[in-house]
Amino acid sequence: MNQQPVVFLDRDGTLNVEVGYIRNLDDLVLIDGAADAVRKLNEAGVATILVTNQTGAARGYYPESHILALNARLLKLLAAGGARLDDVYYCPHFEDGIVAPFSCLCQCRKPSVGMVDQAYADHPQLDSTRSFVIGDKATDIELAKNCGAKGVLVTTGYGTAVLKGEYQWPVEPDYQASSIVEAVEWILEQVQLN
Ligand SMILES: [Mg+2]
Ligand SMILES: [Zn+2]
Repeated sequence: MNQQPVVFLDRDGTLNVEVGYIRNLDDLVLIDGAADAVRKLNEAGVATILVTNQTGAARGYYPESHILALNARLLKLLAAGGARLDDVYYCPHFEDGIVAPFSCLCQCRKPSVGMVDQAYADHPQLDSTRSFVIGDKATDIELAKNCGAKGVLVTTGYGTAVLKGEYQWPVEPDYQASSIVEAVEWILEQVQLN
């Protein structure tokens, strides 16, 4: 049954251009080639699952409904490029937030594996032995280690700063890619080897 390889995708800095907290929907813009890359995964039968930390509601920057609206815009932009995400998970929690009920410790904030575990529960066909995480932060690479996936660090978003040791902490990704485009090329090679 566990037959479908899966890629867990970060959102900001991986699929869309990193611009900090996105208050205006129009400011969510896809990274060049992102829709094509996701479509290639779709066509190869690889599941695409969004896993994103979104603390903007917990910090009081905007309501939770805005997180949903941003994710909906992302799906719309991807669909315009013929691409789809098979599911979307977000963690709205932040321990040091100011807005209840989001200001708490949780099991889903990356690098914790709560969103990945939920995806495996919701989609029993996913093959955890052929799983990948693509992201621009050390948090994403640590998520990969924590859930037994291969971690691909993209140097869009915060990726370059992570590699220089200027953001978060040093990590050793399984692969380093200039963007999601190259990340997906590498993943498709790995999937076809197995
Ligand atoms: Mg990111
Ligand atoms: Zn959470």
